[in-house]
Amino acid sequence: MKTRFAPSPTGPLHLGHAYSALYASDLAEKNQGEFLLRIEDIDQARAQPKWEQQIYEDLSWLGIRWVKPVLRQSSRLDQYRSALQHLDKMGLIYNCTCSRRDIQEAANAPQEGSSLNLGPDGIVYSGKCRQENAGISVDYTKPIRLNAQAAFNTLKSPLNWVDNGAKSMAKDKFLTQIGDIVLSRKNMGTSYHLSVVVDDAYQGITDVVRGKDLAEATAIHVLLQRLLEVPTPSYHHHGLIRDENGTRLAKRDDAKAIALFRQNGTTPDEIRRFVGLPQA
Ligand code: GLU
Repeated sequence: MKTRFAPSPTGPLHLGHAYSALYASDLAEKNQGEFLLRIEDIDQARAQPKWEQQIYEDLSWLGIRWVKPVLRQSSRLDQYRSALQHLDKMGLIYNCTCSRRDIQEAANAPQEGSSLNLGPDGIVYSGKCRQENAGISVDYTKPIRLNAQAAFNTLKSPLNWVDNGAKSMAKDKFLTQIGDIVLSRKNMGTSYHLSVVVDDAYQGITDVVRGKDLAEATAIHVLLQRLLEVPTPSYHHHGLIRDENGTRLAKRDDAKAIALFRQNGTTPDEIRRFVGLPQA
């Protein structure tokens, strides 16, 4: 068994991150497996060395040990490019230069119905550029989307996976609730979905542990795994840690930052108790 924790160094780790990291490292330990750490720093405009440093300090303080060396996504751009080329050869990707505003306006247009159709990759894309750029060769310096319908048409068996039980997603549901996801963002050369799939496969991750907020994105990851012909790990999505008002914690909630608990004299065992995990 190989598990991992894959934080983005764009802010302090909070209780929710501690939950994911401890859960993943406990699971590996229970099964005599390995626990890996991956720094998801593809958003170079937001990633900062000070946050990466703090991730190492917070995890060490929690008593977590990881296999070295740490994998940094910023060192993997060639691999993301190769994955895009593979999908390109299959005829499954196209450039999309629609702005956020174009997408929102298209989704709001009266003929499309009134409510915004929001999926795990944002607003379900109208497909404007898919039609306009059909047959045009892909420019890798520009944003790229997956043609989800064409992608599904290549599958030889249903899209299913294990996430605390058997899960599946049918093509029609994917097309209406998720749509043509972004595989490469402006100035990034990749996207969260593409890089997470390429790297989970490269690192041989057998069990992905993360918060329930990413559960809906799993269908996207499984589809990409099938297209890239890599194994699908088992998924374990845990409940989210909420604050006193029931609001989900985000990185900007510095009040719940692990660093602050440390400063205030909280112990790692108390953190385990807060998130509902057994003592080490
Ligand atoms: N990097 C993502 C985050 O910090 C998590 C990725 C994952 O676990 O799949 O939210």
